[in-house]
Amino acid sequence: MNQRIEKLQTWMRDHDVEVSFVTSSENVFYLSGYYTDPHERLLALAVFQEQEPFLVLPSMEVHDAKNSGWEHEIIGFSDIDNPWDLVEKAIQQRIKKVSKAAIEKEHMNVERYEQLLGLFPHAVFVSAEEKLRMLRMIKDEKEIATIQEACALADYAIEFGASELKEGKTELEVLNALEYALKQKGVTEMSFSTMVLSGANAASPHGNPGTTRIQKGDLVLFDLGVVVDRYCSDITRTVAFGDINDKQKEIYDTVLKAQLAALEASKPGVTAAEIDLTARRIIADAGYGEYFPHRLGHGLGISIHEYPSLTETNPLVMETGMVFTIEPGIYVPNVAGVRIEDDVLITSDGAVALTKYPKELQIIKN
Ligand code: MN
Ligand code: MN
Repeated sequence: MNQRIEKLQTWMRDHDVEVSFVTSSENVFYLSGYYTDPHERLLALAVFQEQEPFLVLPSMEVHDAKNSGWEHEIIGFSDIDNPWDLVEKAIQQRIKKVSKAAIEKEHMNVERYEQLLGLFPHAVFVSAEEKLRMLRMIKDEKEIATIQEACALADYAIEFGASELKEGKTELEVLNALEYALKQKGVTEMSFSTMVLSGANAASPHGNPGTTRIQKGDLVLFDLGVVVDRYCSDITRTVAFGDINDKQKEIYDTVLKAQLAALEASKPGVTAAEIDLTARRIIADAGYGEYFPHRLGHGLGISIHEYPSLTETNPLVMETGMVFTIEPGIYVPNVAGVRIEDDVLITSDGAVALTKYPKELQIIKN
């Protein structure tokens, strides 16, 4: 049994959970090593305290799942099978009665829950999500190396995007060029929809790139991430296209100061809240508190948002192996939007930024 499943089994024994029925692509991948998105078809990994786990997935994927290294049973179902009959049989072969089952409550849909209720009529259902989030929060060496690779490609994308800025080009044209350049390098997937936002558009924290043309004196915000072997990176850089005014500079300098201070404050033993507040106080003291409307950052890995969540109230203590973003921003409508985001790894004596594109204001004069 792999160590991740063993850790889940230890938790199950401690909490008298007889079966964990894991259904999200991300958690199935984390535990089994096999990733698939079967859309509306069923995907599940059933884990027991002692008995052999099994995967259930569309039969056309059985071959790939075996090749992924999964050594335990795989139950394939065709489009005319009822997968729940097969699940029932496989569970009955292993255990007779289920009184407590763990499921991903935030992921499970009602139809599947009703199927499980039919299979385990006397069971109490508890959430497996919190435990899986805590397991995924601490990355091993291989995960860190993969994220580093994703970060290096994100750095490249920012550099390429900045070099593509030209007066009159649209946000979408720049976006297209940088994603094309990534595909040329073999990147198959972005972590989320790439953002290239210029001028007033950058003042919206979750704006949509469009046909706005880039003009001299704009701040241009790039927010993007690259997926490598299922692991995400996430970087934001805001660059100046031509010379910007003093107000824009002041906002940029404030965000940079907050970002660097939060990075400096990140180390084992401090809480997520302390790190968030380190940045938040700097922004508030500069008079921009109301223009920083989101948390400081989020964990990332297989998912673009995972634990730890860096909010001003989270008492969670930092530990070696955590990977998360530090991304303060100031968004003043019609004036400027600036965000600077690094992916950061907690090490034994501090933290290192895994994204490395320069953070001093880059003034692009293409
Ligand atoms: Mn981002
Ligand atoms: Mn982010």
